[in-house]
Amino acid sequence: MTSVQTIQYDLLIDGEWRPAQSGEYFEVENPATGDSIARMANAGPEDVADAVASAERAFLHGPWSDMDGGERGRIMWRIADLIEGRMEELGRLESISNGRPISETASQMRVVASYFRYFAGFCDKIQGSTIPTGSSHFNYTVRVPLGVVGQLTPWNHPLMIASKKLAPALAAGCTVVLKPSEWAPLTPTEIGNIALEAGLPPGVLNIVNGFGPTSGKALASDPRLGKLDLTGGTETGRAVAQIAGANLVPLQFELGGKAPVIVFDDVKLEDAVNGCAFASFIASGQTCIQGSRAIVHRSIYNQFVEMLAKKVSGIKIGDPTDTQTQMGPVISKPAYDRILSYVKSAKDEGASVAHGGKKPEGAQFERGYFIEPTILADVRQDMRVAQEEIFGPVVCVIPFDSEDEAVAIANDIPYGLGCSIWTRDVARAHRVARDVIAGVIWINDHHRLHPAVPWGGFKDSGFGREGSFEFINEYTAPKYVCVRIDPEAVDWYGSSGTGRRLN
Ligand code: NDP
Repeated sequence: MTSVQTIQYDLLIDGEWRPAQSGEYFEVENPATGDSIARMANAGPEDVADAVASAERAFLHGPWSDMDGGERGRIMWRIADLIEGRMEELGRLESISNGRPISETASQMRVVASYFRYFAGFCDKIQGSTIPTGSSHFNYTVRVPLGVVGQLTPWNHPLMIASKKLAPALAAGCTVVLKPSEWAPLTPTEIGNIALEAGLPPGVLNIVNGFGPTSGKALASDPRLGKLDLTGGTETGRAVAQIAGANLVPLQFELGGKAPVIVFDDVKLEDAVNGCAFASFIASGQTCIQGSRAIVHRSIYNQFVEMLAKKVSGIKIGDPTDTQTQMGPVISKPAYDRILSYVKSAKDEGASVAHGGKKPEGAQFERGYFIEPTILADVRQDMRVAQEEIFGPVVCVIPFDSEDEAVAIANDIPYGLGCSIWTRDVARAHRVARDVIAGVIWINDHHRLHPAVPWGGFKDSGFGREGSFEFINEYTAPKYVCVRIDPEAVDWYGSSGTGRRLN
């Protein structure tokens, strides 16, 4: 594996990089080698409090929220340009920290830039309305930014998810305190340098690396937040909701998932197999909309499992920084152990392993957290692997006999985030899209994403939507202004109030 020099990042507060007040740093490991690759300043509650104070000052007294929208937009375009200009380098930083192949991470940088460009376009288009209620009053609304936004982000798409949240927040005129995941903080921290270079004023973006239960909790607990936006696991969502809920801070949660890939018997099997392989194993299966359950018509079940096993046996596993690599390791030793324990539990409950289920063989895989793409067949709905989010390169293949049964299996989980439907029958595709409980549905595709489309889930997958023109409103609130224009004054307690309406 490629060796890398140790990188060091401090905390970004008030436009300056500074160490944590404790002077502590934590190490970031390359999951492909187990080597330490970076030292990050470890923010304590006092640093997080400073970051929120800096964001609050920048919001109340800085130029950002009052800046001409067009100028805010120009700065965001510059951020997008700088990201695109550094795609390879950012992709590499991401690959060494979360283990995703550089072919995935570098190409994702283009999508990251597109979020900044899409939301930059809203900066000078945030507007209110006038509301007719009669001739005595003139009513209007203005949309105002929510203030300081706290953002807690995961490691699986570190810069993309941070940017999905940053871009609309900044476009709306909010200021931000970002707490990236401790597991892959490099690219969401480097965005601080990019933002400063693009001309973002001091304090508008603050970055406090650290651990969930310390710096994350301190951020979630801060009553000065105008909004808290989390992408992470469902259990983290429950914990954070309790903390932030006590301060009545508005929340937006993008949480876990267990997406079904429903395959009907009228498909071109090769296309569905290729689609399922992509859905299940991109990012080593560590995506919230991972195709974690292939629900396949019984008449094609055996052939599907066989073809999928053949397909994934050709996936090239290896060094994430090698452009030929198609699949890297999983993020960490705890993740590696958790995923393999799910495979074991599936076998104990009667499932069979049609492919993978272990570390690939070879000296190059010894020190990293590599797991073969794993296909579990003969899976029943009552097994743990069919119900819980595994968040790794494991797909459960489950047979069905009727359309109703396919929908019932798809919905029989606590999550409701993504789903793909593979069929050539147009009416059936739309019926199933209507009946599956998920916020994002693909027909004959999986994992498509664009800043202009809404993203989010139902049930334990969270609430609120990212992306689309509606999302800008999630970072602003209407302020209603009522102007009395009636020439005649009213004295409620005098004679002119009698017979008039109270409000
Ligand atoms: P986690 O829930 O572990 O962490 C998410 C963020 O919250 C991290 O910054 C983490 O910090 C922080 N955090 C953890 N615990 C707390 C706490 N008690 N208080 C405050 N902050 C806390 O998620 P992962 O990073 O492991 O990401 C994987 C999860 O994210 C999966 O469940 C996946 O489905 C979900 N996800 C959802 C998406 C969606 O769009 N719905 C998209 C991508 C992922 P730290 O890492 O330092 O602990």
